Amino acid sequence: MIAFASENAPVALHWFRSDLRLRDNPALTEAARFGAVVPVWIDDTTIPPNEAPGAAYRWWTRRSLVALDDALKGNLRFFRGDPSVLLPDLVRRYGVRRVTWTEAYEPCVRARDTLLATSLTELGVEVVRRNGSLLWDPETIAKPDGTPYRVFTPFFQKGCLAAPSPRTPLPAPDLTLVPRAASEPGVEPAPEAEWERKLGTQWTIGEAAAHTRLDAFLANGLAGYASGRDFPARPHTSRLSPYLAHGEISPNTLWYAVAGRASARDVAKFRAELAWREFAHYLLVHFPQMVTEPFRPEFTAFPWEEDDTLCRRWQRGETGIPIVDAAMRALWRTGYLHNRLRMVVASFLTKNQLLHWRVGEAWFRDTLVDYTLASNVASWQWVAGCGADAAPYFRIFNPVLQAEKFDPDGSFIATYLPELAKLPTPARFAPWTASEATREAAGLFLGKNYPQPIVSLVASRARALAAYARIKASTSD
Ligand code: FAD
Repeated sequence: MIAFASENAPVALHWFRSDLRLRDNPALTEAARFGAVVPVWIDDTTIPPNEAPGAAYRWWTRRSLVALDDALKGNLRFFRGDPSVLLPDLVRRYGVRRVTWTEAYEPCVRARDTLLATSLTELGVEVVRRNGSLLWDPETIAKPDGTPYRVFTPFFQKGCLAAPSPRTPLPAPDLTLVPRAASEPGVEPAPEAEWERKLGTQWTIGEAAAHTRLDAFLANGLAGYASGRDFPARPHTSRLSPYLAHGEISPNTLWYAVAGRASARDVAKFRAELAWREFAHYLLVHFPQMVTEPFRPEFTAFPWEEDDTLCRRWQRGETGIPIVDAAMRALWRTGYLHNRLRMVVASFLTKNQLLHWRVGEAWFRDTLVDYTLASNVASWQWVAGCGADAAPYFRIFNPVLQAEKFDPDGSFIATYLPELAKLPTPARFAPWTASEATREAAGLFLGKNYPQPIVSLVASRARALAAYARIKASTSD
């Protein structure tokens, strides 16, 4: 319920960040308990480029703010700039006595938040920070010897599951708002570029949409999740990641919503995937250097190549390897990519093309609507073989076999590469192996309307293994 404040109520300011929701928002609830609330959003211009979300994420945020502002009946204040300058100003302007926000885990943001909390406290303001985006606070989980976990299974089984259960979700608080004056900056829908309008056809954004998506997943996706989640053309993944990334829904809501809604195996598998998200944030908190440095130090000497042309062809889906190209075009068109395909394209970039994982991480940062620094960096390092609990480097995905296994009827490829849709299914996975007559009958002319493979899968695999053998040899000297 929303009401408006009388003149003399004590004032709390809630600073919305990646928690664009009213339900199960512990920090917002703390603001509501205190008194009249000033809801604020700051377009933070101080985050360094390698931690700042890119274009697709920011597009989603703008739309999400419109939805949140609607829920707040037009009272969300919108500012742009440095929060360390803006917040003390706002505290004075509104006579704020409590400031609340949801914890963030990006290293630069965390460091800034600590300084900001100190300076606000010095102004006589009570600062209330709450974990609202993780099931378990990363600071509370440790090995028996007090050091952080480095491997997922013990982290989840012995650390998380042995700790107190996650908070049960809170209802939306009753909010008494300080009304926004017409002279104060509010949320304005921004003009959108052509690619943004196209993205907009793929998604419904905001807290209500997140719950609708969850309900659909519970009804049609969760049963069969454990066996179906690896197949991009099947409906078994939730596609809730962008809603989680913007905090339109909390992981606690998902954790409890799935209970009893499918077989124990499906529920456990889904919760384990949520726990991978926890693990990524946990690693980022305890090993913040992983934003730029390999988790496994021997990879510092890895002979990554630099090749802008190869990189562009990967980005545009012009590698000549159909599952890679279909995936990269799906990413561009929808701002999203199925987990199996993220692994396939990341493996292709870092192993068959030998390009640095940071090149791929940067492209995903710019194009994913669910971009999350922790999950993106940890997953890229995981696929590249240099991360925590990583897939061994020498296990190199063969993208043709991956396509045969996980897109068995070739329908995902046909959706995003219409130029291959007329080929018989097996030829869609590796068109260069089909006879010229088969290709011509399907209207496919390699090198003309679809590229020849830019690398030989066999030779590039051997080259990657040789590069790995060199760093192994040099570090075991
Ligand atoms: P579901 O299968 O429905 O899983 C439910 C939730 O669990 C997801 O929404 C997500 O929050 C979490 N989850 C599932 N798998 C993983 C995983 N492997 N790691 C971490 N969390 C997981 N996820 C992001 O949210 N942001 C990123 O920037 C991101 N970058 C990635 C980069 C690479 C190279 C790879 C291999 C994976 C990346 N992931 C990232 C993880 C994963 O691919 C997505 O979270 C998942 O595909 C989202 O789809 P979903 O919501 O349908 O997942």
